[in-house]
Amino acid sequence: MDLGLTDKTVIVTGASSGIGLAAARQLLGEGAKVALCARGAERLAAVAEDLGAEFGAGRILAQPVDVLNEAAVNGFAEAVAARFGGAVALINNAGQGRVSTFADTDDQAWRDELELKYFSQIRPIRAFQAMLAASGQGAIAATNSLLAYQPEPHMVCTSSARAGVQSLLKSLSVELAPKIRVNSILVGLVDSNQWQRRFEARDDQSQSCDDWYAALAAKKKIPLGRLGKPEEAARALVFLASPAASYITGAQIEISGGVSRYI
Ligand code: NDP
Repeated sequence: MDLGLTDKTVIVTGASSGIGLAAARQLLGEGAKVALCARGAERLAAVAEDLGAEFGAGRILAQPVDVLNEAAVNGFAEAVAARFGGAVALINNAGQGRVSTFADTDDQAWRDELELKYFSQIRPIRAFQAMLAASGQGAIAATNSLLAYQPEPHMVCTSSARAGVQSLLKSLSVELAPKIRVNSILVGLVDSNQWQRRFEARDDQSQSCDDWYAALAAKKKIPLGRLGKPEEAARALVFLASPAASYITGAQIEISGGVSRYI
């Protein structure tokens, strides 16, 4: 299947590791030009260099940006316009989850989490909206979490924020139509830096990485018996961002190995 992305420009936020990096790599493999951002300049530069060596530096723009910083996001949009003359799709992927129960989430933690989840969507969408609309095939594909539909008490504020963001995306799929399609993926557990960090902080430091992941998949009762890989989530994002998904908007694809319990 031709995704129709050859020579098109796609922006990927949170692209220096995990799902975002996998998406950037797949987009470049499809012949697209990619604008990547993340906060950490050093890791982003290293990733851009690797991708440039593999796919050609001329198709890559990498800019350190915190997606919560309005001026930085607007500056990124200006850089994309100057370098590539526009973009057809925005993959809003930057972020991370917060592990905390209601009892141990204070007001500031609530504010921080709600700001991260909402404004990591709002700021890039505002900054790139005109560019996407002008492209004639605009698309936004957002990384969201299964927690939006299946909240977990040990991630109380992330779950709540994820549900709100899913509502926001649904509203935007109507308000931004027909010029921009808006879709999302609902991620269950994908092996990325987030889980590597949790592995490193494990209670039993003698447990191997393979054993820790196997125990996690068993504990979470994942029907496919393992965590997902970043590229498995990225493939769905790239599809939704591409013209191949031209009649899909306001939809979500679950990438969870079957762990959801709702129908
Ligand atoms: P990673 O930690 O591997 O990647 C996260 C990326 O986002 C990094 O490039 C990070 O770089 C960047 N990032 C984080 N915060 C910001 C910010 N404020 N501005 C710009 N870039 C930022 O994790 P994943 O690949 O797993 O995460 C991708 C998305 O998937 C996240 O939104 C996450 O919440 C979501 N998700 C992941 C799940 C999983 O099981 N892995 C489950 C459910 C949802 P830097 O730190 O340098 O900014």
